[in-house]
Amino acid sequence: MEFGLTDEQLMLRDTARRFVDDVCPPERAKEWDEQHHYPPELFKGFAELGWFEVAFPQADGGGGGGAVELAIVTEELGRASLDVAQCFCLTLQAGLVVHRFGSDAMRRELLPSVMSGDARLSIAISEPDAGSDAAAMRTFADDKGDHFVLSGQKMWCTGAGLPGTKIVCYVRTDRDSPKHQGLSVVLLDPSLPGVELRKIDTLARHILGTYEVYLDGVEVPKDQLIGDLNGGWQVLLSGLSLERVLISGGYVGAAQATVDEALAYAKQRHQFGRPIAEFQALTHALADIQTEVDASRLLVQRAAWLHDTGADAGTAGSMAKLKGSETYVAAARLGMQICAGHGFATESVMSFRYRESIVAPISGGTSQIQRNAIARSMGMRGY
Ligand SMILES: Cc1cc2nc3c(=O)[nH]c(=O)nc-3n(C[C@H](O)[C@H](O)[C@H](O)COP(=O)(O)OP(=O)(O)OC[C@H]3O[C@@H](n4cnc5c(N)ncnc54)[C@H](O)[C@@H]3O)c2cc1C
Repeated sequence: MEFGLTDEQLMLRDTARRFVDDVCPPERAKEWDEQHHYPPELFKGFAELGWFEVAFPQADGGGGGGAVELAIVTEELGRASLDVAQCFCLTLQAGLVVHRFGSDAMRRELLPSVMSGDARLSIAISEPDAGSDAAAMRTFADDKGDHFVLSGQKMWCTGAGLPGTKIVCYVRTDRDSPKHQGLSVVLLDPSLPGVELRKIDTLARHILGTYEVYLDGVEVPKDQLIGDLNGGWQVLLSGLSLERVLISGGYVGAAQATVDEALAYAKQRHQFGRPIAEFQALTHALADIQTEVDASRLLVQRAAWLHDTGADAGTAGSMAKLKGSETYVAAARLGMQICAGHGFATESVMSFRYRESIVAPISGGTSQIQRNAIARSMGMRGY
């Protein structure tokens, strides 16, 4: 059994760590969040370091890396903030959907610009009445021969409003089939007539922004179909384990950075004539949370490794997401208690961690939904 990283993986980690220190340290990520600012240099930086390429096969111009390498990158980006890690994950996730299921023409057109950092992609699954029960979506794509006509409303579409973004949009194409069987996926250009985006005011995730997408008679050419007609649910499931591995790497990085920040504060803050890091009430709490972070990291690495061996990483991915996301929330909660009044001031990085951590066990499938999946793998009904 081997727990270490290879020399190449260590180099990748060190490069990513330097990138965060130079381009997006947590203080800067917090500023971007507060200003609702999307910094183009972030995307360009990812591309220049070849990170978007890592995920794609060498035969398609990619770097031929795997989930282990991607999780190394997302963990380091998570140290800046979850939102920064998500900037990387989101386009990559959607790009991989196009790679697996898009037509040759779509792949030729889109993937080089994903790898070069010029294209941005967003994913629209959720709707006002279809959250955890994603297959309950009602946005309908009416088949009109050479094009579809889309009508409905998507919700919580992260990054949809950034310039040059296209949306991998899940729609219903058959109202009569069972709900999982009548879904399809199209590549939607939000500049098309009939598309309206409205930014949702949220607690965090402000770099990317999160949007409602209103669709009113939007004509989408048939060649923008991704995967088979009515095969949308298979498309959705196909990327789930990698998606969970990627973002869980971000949770681990964010949680580790939070613990590091709380520890640094506890060492320098004196009360009763000594550093508060000497009070056992705090040292044990910090020891416990570091143990949780390490456990989360191991779960992410196991899920990534399983994914790269071609094994089923579904349950392992759910465990990594469950543990990683909840550990980030727990770390931020503890960090606030350790920083106390200084944490409560909104100028503190800890207050930003606290604010942004809350979404971790919600977006990308809630903790309850991960537990359901894990329960099902144990032979229970799990719903
Ligand atoms: C900031 C942010 C960004 C997002 N980005 C995207 C995006 O880019 N694209 C996209 O498509 N979606 C996105 N989402 C949507 C996200 O995936 C959903 O919020 C999530 O799936 C939960 O859906 P919901 O919020 O409607 O909650 P609901 O599904 O209404 O759930 C409410 C509560 O009930 C619980 N619950 C529901 N069903 C069960 C069950 N069977 N068993 C046990 N408990 C259950 C849930 O766990 C939760 O606690 C984003 C959400 C947020 C907040």
